[in-house]
Amino acid sequence: MTVRVGVIGGGQLARMMIAPAVELGLDIRVLAEDEGMSAQLAATAVGDYRDLDTVRAFAKDVDVLTFDHEHVPQEVLRALVADGVQVHPGPDALQYAQDKLVMRARLDQLGVPQPDWAAVHDADELQRFIDDHGGGAVVKTPRGGYDGKGVRVVRTAMDAADWFAAAEGDALLAEELVPFTRELAQQIARRPSGEMVAYPVVETVQRDGVCAEAIAPAPGTTERLVQAAEQIARRIAEGVGVTGMLAVELFETDDQRILVNELAMRPHNSGHWSQDGAVTGQFEQHLRAVTDLPLGRAEPRQPWTVMVNILGGPQEGTLADRFASVMTAHPEAKIHTYGKAPRPGRKVGHINVAGEDLDDVVYLARAAATFFA
Ligand code: ADP
Repeated sequence: MTVRVGVIGGGQLARMMIAPAVELGLDIRVLAEDEGMSAQLAATAVGDYRDLDTVRAFAKDVDVLTFDHEHVPQEVLRALVADGVQVHPGPDALQYAQDKLVMRARLDQLGVPQPDWAAVHDADELQRFIDDHGGGAVVKTPRGGYDGKGVRVVRTAMDAADWFAAAEGDALLAEELVPFTRELAQQIARRPSGEMVAYPVVETVQRDGVCAEAIAPAPGTTERLVQAAEQIARRIAEGVGVTGMLAVELFETDDQRILVNELAMRPHNSGHWSQDGAVTGQFEQHLRAVTDLPLGRAEPRQPWTVMVNILGGPQEGTLADRFASVMTAHPEAKIHTYGKAPRPGRKVGHINVAGEDLDDVVYLARAAATFFA
């Protein structure tokens, strides 16, 4: 019988699972937040993912439940598991991608290298942390942040006064301000049966807290760094029992250390390169992992692949016109559209270019992306 995969959330990650699901012979269904979302082609239901009855009704007709985002509340997930629904990743794992304080505490237990951190409940505690860390810190809201929202560099506790007021006594996360030289991301897929396949570590470039580019594999890495990144991902995936794709965002320091920034338990922007650059793309791999099918190989198909995000849209003309222009000028570029109306700063698609020469590939991917400026 055809396996039915239910995806909660109708964004671009769900959208990009649709084509591989068809190829794998899976029946994919999406619970979208609204009409007309990125993944509307597979949307069989529209409703609130925080509402147990809505999610329960959706889950009734699927064999496996997975996610486009991490925001489904623990109570809802645990009720589904109690109903006997296959949920991947399960709530025990997902909690570490939902709450950065819970994640930091668990990563300490697992002995994974990470920035110094503390749970701070008020301005005094934060000021002590800042004073102990050279006069600066990064403050994060533990839950609900994305794309740099909920992350703030502070020099004094006053800089976070509004967040303490909004938190109403709940702790914020304070982290040392890591003087990183670049950001990396390590992905790994894990099946319920425990099999794991790691992707090459990639370099990511963020602008204004949003991923702008990814280069796969990360250039200029030592074998030691490559091994260390993979070991960290393996330890986390196994340690917290992830099923599906795990992305570990990392900082590299100038003394070649890597520290874990955060976790995502789903396909991730840093892995979009794999759609055109790896033997098995991350969306296919996620579906294979959550349905407990054998995993595919994750090696690059070309020496280099560069992914550039398209943020916002053209000042004049339509996105479709621009895509057509890119196809004319850059037949080597692979275009992925999200079916979203452009708004400033909004991710509406991405471009992958793969090839032999890193400088060429970077140049071509960026040149293709300029059509959207
Ligand atoms: P989000 O959940 O919104 O993606 P992150 O925790 O990944 O937030 O932080 C967003 C960006 O802020 C990171 O990609 C990095 O550039 C910067 N950042 C986060 N934490 C630190 C830190 N401890 N030190 C220095 N920069 C940081």
